[in-house]
Amino acid sequence: MYHQRSFCGGQPWLAEYLHEFATFPKGKFDDQADSTSQALDWVKEKYVEPGIFVYYREEHKKLLRQQGRFDELRKLEERYPSATPMGPAKCAKCGGTLIAKIGPQSRCQQCGSQWG
Ligand SMILES: [Zn+2]
Repeated sequence: MYHQRSFCGGQPWLAEYLHEFATFPKGKFDDQADSTSQALDWVKEKYVEPGIFVYYREEHKKLLRQQGRFDELRKLEERYPSATPMGPAKCAKCGGTLIAKIGPQSRCQQCGSQWG
């Protein structure tokens, strides 16, 4: 198949990998699908959104508010709630002040405890 060959050319493992996903969970093997989903969970958990993204999104929300585009604003708020202003963030467990925001969650970078 031309399509598959062009897509998988040079990566002999790729066809097998994609096949495992295409047949999951009824395929013969699931190790790669399992480990991929675990890796994606790990990335999602560790990912801290760059501040510039937050800045532009908040600017976009301001614009929608000014233009009365409340349907779009509500959808954006549901997906990306604005950070609630709070005092200087401090970890209740260790008193650490290196706090990362992960979506609505906060995580202490010093002891790893999470809340929110
Ligand atoms: Zn802590």
